[in-house]
Amino acid sequence: MTNQQHKTSVTVLGLGAMGQALAGAFLGAGHPTTVWNRTPGKGDDLVARGATRTATAAEAVRASDVVVVCLYDYAVSQAVLDPLAADLSGRALVNLTSDTPERSREAAAWAAGHGIDYLDGAILVPVTVIGTADALLFHSGPRPVFERHESTLRVLGGNTVYLGEDHGLAAVYDNALLDFFWTSMSGLVHAFALAGADGVKGAELAPYMSALLSIFPEAVESTAVEVDSGVYPGEQAPLVTEAANVDHIIHASEHRGLDVGALSGIKAVLDRAIAKGHGADGWTATIEAVRGAR
Ligand code: NDP
Repeated sequence: MTNQQHKTSVTVLGLGAMGQALAGAFLGAGHPTTVWNRTPGKGDDLVARGATRTATAAEAVRASDVVVVCLYDYAVSQAVLDPLAADLSGRALVNLTSDTPERSREAAAWAAGHGIDYLDGAILVPVTVIGTADALLFHSGPRPVFERHESTLRVLGGNTVYLGEDHGLAAVYDNALLDFFWTSMSGLVHAFALAGADGVKGAELAPYMSALLSIFPEAVESTAVEVDSGVYPGEQAPLVTEAANVDHIIHASEHRGLDVGALSGIKAVLDRAIAKGHGADGWTATIEAVRGAR
């Protein structure tokens, strides 16, 4: 008996960059792996490594006990899955496509209506990290379904985390972490543009950016405490002072012809928090202006 015969069979629907990485990890761990992609011809290397490639998604679904979906978004994944409800019944469906908690819950309701065991997941690492001990993936949905397939799902990442029964939770955590990531990356690029406008090379500024990052772990911890308690100590750096600092950066950026859309948004939130009476509080008090913005 080969190693493969002990392992759960897995189908991966979607062979974009991420789908190929997922299928590669399952293959590498010895799972019988079937793959399908809308556009034919993707995944030659997976086939060379032993994957079965099918012409239709329905054939791919029928080949395995666990079906992993990794497509562009939930509109696409639902369009692909809708005609496959009967084929999916009795199998475990794991949707690792990124989208919103609402779409995850809609997909879960659809799956429940068709008797499909459904887990909703989110991938928090790039393709090159998939299959390593460091790879962070979130799952949410029925605990017994996660536990039944945990060893298979853990093949994709050593840092595989089950968040709870609410199918939306994986997307909640995913959206929150990416909110932090994208706004930080946007600030990083803007900062290089600001210094670069005065002839400072990226490489010259980079060491100081890295040093600045060292304060973040502590800032994350203290911000979490303040968010949870609703108490925002501001003795050392009150919002009124920070608002003036942000204004300086906006003026310097405008003077250099740089985009100030993101900074103006930050300043508007600061101003609203101050108008609500938080001028003497710390930066976390801006959450009072972030909430209920519409
Ligand atoms: P790609 O753009 O590389 O692949 C998109 C996939 O969706 C392809 O398989 C594509 O098929 C398919 N697709 C798009 N539109 C349709 C459609 N109308 N019908 C059927 N299939 C369709 O994306 P990734 O693989 O990079 O990402 C997939 C998911 O993984 C996304 O939700 C992404 O956010 C998430 N993710 C990706 C990461 C990454 O580093 N790449 C990191 C973390 C999460 P076709 O080849 O036919 O176009």
